[in-house]
Order: sequence, then structure tokens, then C-alpha cells
Amino acid sequence: MATYHITATHSVEQCGYGDPRKSKYLLASLKNINILEKKWKCNMKHYSWNIAGHTCYMLIEARSHYSLNMFVLEILGGVGGVRSDYTIVPVVTRTEMIPNKTE
Ligand SMILES: [Zn+2]
Repeated sequence: MATYHITATHSVEQCGYGDPRKSKYLLASLKNINILEKKWKCNMKHYSWNIAGHTCYMLIEARSHYSLNMFVLEILGGVGGVRSDYTIVPVVTRTEMIPNKTE
């Protein structure tokens, strides 16, 4: 699988911090991350937020750009969640460069 770094940003109006409904969808997605990983054949390797900057950073292994896009949409809460714009940057991990090392 290839690895991608995702930077997802959203507007203040789309922020889940001030909208309990959006937070509910976002947290439900995170609780079901194992199901979503199997559904879209993706592996979340890193997930963190800059809450004040309305930005989420993810490192995800994916088999295709389609599965990656669908996984990201769902992990951010789907249609009712935090609607975000995001950039996808393919990366080469240390494990890919030196297979015996663990990350
Ligand atoms: Zn926000």
C-alpha cells in the first residue's frame, strides 16, 4: 500500500468544536475507525488536530486514491460531520525505504 499525508482544514462555520451535531458524527467515525479501515482498505498511521487552526493531520496507508478519499470523508464524520477541504501528499516512509525498520 502507498502512504499519504493528509492536511484537512475547515471553516469556522464547519467547526465541530462549536457544533455538537458535527462533533457527534466526528466522534462516531473515530469510534468506528477499525470498521472504516476494513471497509475502505486503509490504515490510519497518525491522526492529530490543531484545534485552534481548524486543521487535521493524518498519515494513511491506502490501496487507491478512491478508497483514500472515501475513508477521509467518512473519518471526518461523513455528510453530517466536519466538511473539510484537504490536500493529499504521497510520502515515502522509513519502512518503505528500509523494510526491517519499524515506525
Ligand atoms: Zn474547527
